[in-house]
Amino acid sequence: MISAEPLPLSIAGQWRLGAGDAYDSLYPATGEPIARLRAASLDDVDEAITRAHQAFRDSGWAQRLPHERAAVLYRVAQLIREQAEPLAQKQRLDNGKPISETRALVASAAGTFQFFAAALETLQDTLTPARGPYVTMSVHEPMGVVAAITPWNSPIASEAQKLAPALAAGNAVVLKPAEITPLMALELARICEQAGVPPGLVSVLAGKGAVIGDAITRHPLVKRVSFTGGTATGRHIARIAADKMMPVSLELGGKSPTMVLEDADLDHAVNGVLFGIFSSSGESCIAGSRLFVARPIYGEFLSRLSEGANALRVGDPASERTQMGPLISASHRQNVERYVALGVSEGARIRTGGARPRGPEFDRGYFYTPTILEGLDNRARTSQEEIFGPVLVALPFDDERDLIEQANDSVYALAAGVWSRDFKRAWRIGRAVQAGTVWINTYKQFSISTPFGGWRDSGLGREKGREGIFQYMEQKSLYWGTNEQPLPWAT
Ligand code: NAD
Repeated sequence: MISAEPLPLSIAGQWRLGAGDAYDSLYPATGEPIARLRAASLDDVDEAITRAHQAFRDSGWAQRLPHERAAVLYRVAQLIREQAEPLAQKQRLDNGKPISETRALVASAAGTFQFFAAALETLQDTLTPARGPYVTMSVHEPMGVVAAITPWNSPIASEAQKLAPALAAGNAVVLKPAEITPLMALELARICEQAGVPPGLVSVLAGKGAVIGDAITRHPLVKRVSFTGGTATGRHIARIAADKMMPVSLELGGKSPTMVLEDADLDHAVNGVLFGIFSSSGESCIAGSRLFVARPIYGEFLSRLSEGANALRVGDPASERTQMGPLISASHRQNVERYVALGVSEGARIRTGGARPRGPEFDRGYFYTPTILEGLDNRARTSQEEIFGPVLVALPFDDERDLIEQANDSVYALAAGVWSRDFKRAWRIGRAVQAGTVWINTYKQFSISTPFGGWRDSGLGREKGREGIFQYMEQKSLYWGTNEQPLPWAT
């Protein structure tokens, strides 16, 4: 247990208990409570947003020069790095990912603050070509209070990805982490405070999405929502945003195709496909969960893949050797089990996995084995719906045209992978597949300097990249008159 006492939230510039219901955050590897919290109440939401609005108006944060705000963000990056190990351990307890992964998430959060600090102090507004007796400029202004709503699967990384550019842009931020993984958002708020972000500018409101997330989204002082989560929730937020005429960015679900051509380097492709679907226990929006393999190599590839899946080290997230930890919760594991049963009812054969692992070390946690399903059509529900767990659907394909058609036959279009030694084919397929990100001869690699987002039901807008800061700003055009003569009506 991190603390027997309920953890305070960061509300309106104070550290205090939420006025909502008490609940426990559980360690998914054992089901034991690791922290007790009191959720935010609707009054807490209103107070935090009103105070954030005041802090935006009065604290001078928005007026600081870019290099001055950047200096604070560099300090945030440095503080994250100084506390990297305790943060990684806490993140492991909060969401059950293996320690090797949570260390990478913490490093990524620090890198995100550093990147947006550098982007901020080097970002340029533009002078546009004048078409009259005036100088024309396009500049960007902060928006006010913006909200960041995040899911449970990679908390510190996804929260940093919203907090850093939103603060860089000069805004106040209300952060709503997933109810079951609130700890990293609270740590980030504490670190921002230590680094010199003005009081009240960042609040963290833990609690149920349908209550707290909904109230934040509807609040009239919230000028933008940056959301990462499920597609159904994203649609709900987009509807509220339409009524408020409020911009939103939505990073949503996926069912990403990975395509292995007959000329692929099979060692790399086997490893890449295993990593693409089974790292993070498949609880990843970009998981390569639909596998297409060229028919001539299908048999051999699936044998090697199944062998690799069976050899993955599933177990204690605290161990350096663990490759796959538990799923996030008992109810989520039941969802995954329901999908495997659905797959079987649709005609799937379980090639490997399809069960809870056995042994005393797995008794209390929410573990599930790496699972490969074969024999389904791409139109089957199990092939089309996001499972968000360690379940891969494998299908053979016959030719390139058939491959592209099947790969693009999905409501989602978040990511895709191509494995081939023929760079011309890989280029053709990489351009033809509809997805926000395409990996060629690699998978699930990320760079904060490269934009990320989805097409279709996978989302709207882009995060990351230098331009990521502009998502949290309004654009303004300035005309500076240089007239020697008065305007025509004055003559
Ligand atoms: P979710 O949509 O249930 O919850 C996400 C967040 O939204 C949580 O903080 C939740 O409390 C909040 N929320 C829920 N209902 C809300 C409402 N009515 N109004 C406002 N906020 C509300 O998603 P989840 O189960 O936490 O996460 C899994 C989903 O997230 C998967 O679909 C996954 O693909 C997606 N995801 C997408 C990306 C991406 O970048 N595209 C990254 C990670 C996860």
